Amino acid sequence: MTYGAIVTSVRVPDAKGRIDDVVLGFDTLQGYLGSHPYFGAVVGRFANRISNGRFSIGGVEHILAVNDGNNALHGGLKGFDKQVWIANKTSAALELTYTSKDGEEGFPGNLTATVTYSVTEENELKISYTGISDRDTIINLTNHSYFNLSGREDEDCLGHIMTIDADRFTPVDAGLIPTGEFRALAGTALDFREPTAIGHRINATDQQIVFGKGYDHNYVLNHAGSASTVSARVTEPKSGRVMQIYTTEPGIQFYTGNFLDGTLTGKGIRRYNQHDGFCLETQHFPDSPNQKSFPSTTLKAGDFYKSTTVYRFSVIQH
Ligand code: BGC
Repeated sequence: MTYGAIVTSVRVPDAKGRIDDVVLGFDTLQGYLGSHPYFGAVVGRFANRISNGRFSIGGVEHILAVNDGNNALHGGLKGFDKQVWIANKTSAALELTYTSKDGEEGFPGNLTATVTYSVTEENELKISYTGISDRDTIINLTNHSYFNLSGREDEDCLGHIMTIDADRFTPVDAGLIPTGEFRALAGTALDFREPTAIGHRINATDQQIVFGKGYDHNYVLNHAGSASTVSARVTEPKSGRVMQIYTTEPGIQFYTGNFLDGTLTGKGIRRYNQHDGFCLETQHFPDSPNQKSFPSTTLKAGDFYKSTTVYRFSVIQH
């Protein structure tokens, strides 16, 4: 929908052909207008955290709106998730455009962002983003859908089997700001190089998991920028549904709905509890503008930002 460029439902068949909605959200616009953790939304201008809400470009410091302790999260107080986008419908695609004004939430430059949702013959939801700014700025767009492939109201996401094509992640401090380190996943409770149930180690005493209250980490993809390699694969054994992600982005934020606490009533009468859904947010790394070792998120004036992510749905083949 035009509000927040939000994906309100994704209806896909299970192994028996039964179609269910596999994303969390609300039945009405009212729910989305209230406070919620970015269900289905496009987050921008900058996905995830910017430490202390500050960054510099060309020696000029910019001060952002902060909404997560001292940090800016997902674009600030009124990010792209709370803006009304302009819709342009084509055959099997919906293009949404939003122009963020110079200085909005503290970000420099008039930035025009476009997100195009399309549905392909291969059962894919394809999301393409573009952006162009009239001043040097920063950009990091993603979609914040929470998935639960079971399609059932009484099922959390812990039984889903996750594989992520990453040998390393970017560890965080207690405020979930990256320390700047790239750390090997081997031997940690965050390792999803082999198919593993999300719930298998989610209560591990690993400090990173304690900081995140579950998984809330940026995975450094092994095949950065390769839209032809599967970056993450999730299967839900009971329904047989499979979701595979392809992206041009270098990272994925794997987030297990750790802050859902049963206070939000979503679709139907479902109360969303901790770990009822998971997000795989394809992105550049959190706090990149303040981290020299991370790939740059600077968008130069007049340059063209482009990013594509594909969610491909299928069923387990026996
Ligand atoms: C962040 C979490 C945050 C969630 C909802 C995720 O992308 O990594 O820390 O709680 O979004 O805001």
